[in-house]
Amino acid sequence: MAAACIFCKIIKGEIPSMKLFESDKTFAFLDINPLSKGHALVIPKHHGEKLTDIPDDSLAELLPVAKKIALAAGAENFNILQNNGRIAHQVVDHVHVHMIPKPNETEGLGVGWPSQ
Ligand code: 5GP
Repeated sequence: MAAACIFCKIIKGEIPSMKLFESDKTFAFLDINPLSKGHALVIPKHHGEKLTDIPDDSLAELLPVAKKIALAAGAENFNILQNNGRIAHQVVDHVHVHMIPKPNETEGLGVGWPSQ
C-alpha cells in the first residue's frame, strides 16, 4: 500500500467506491467517470505503478475478475484497456484494468461517445 495513492485508499475504504468484487489479491469497483454504464476498474491490492511492477500471482487474477464482472453486467460487447505511463494515457499510478461495456444500438453508444 502507498499512503498517498487514491486506489490504495479505495481498497482500504478511506475513499468510498461502488465495490464490485474483493479477494485477498484483487479489488474491483465502478469508475467514477464512466465511459459507459458499468465501466469498471479491476486492480491488484499490491501497489505498483505499472504492469511491470506487479508480481505475476497478483496479475493472474485481473482478467478473470474482469471477465466475471462483464458476465455479471451482461455486457456482450466490451473493451479491456490497461494504460501504462503518461504517454499511454495513464492518470492514476496504481495498476488498473478497465472493463468498458459497449451498449448495443438500441441502448445508444453510452456516456462519453458521440451519438450517430
Ligand atoms: P487511467 O487513465 O489512469 O487508465 O484511468 C484512471 C481511471 O480512474 C479513470 O477512468 C478515472 O475516472 C478513474 N478514477 C480516478 N479517480 C477515481 C476515484 O477516486 N474513484 C473511482 N471510482 N474512479 C476514479
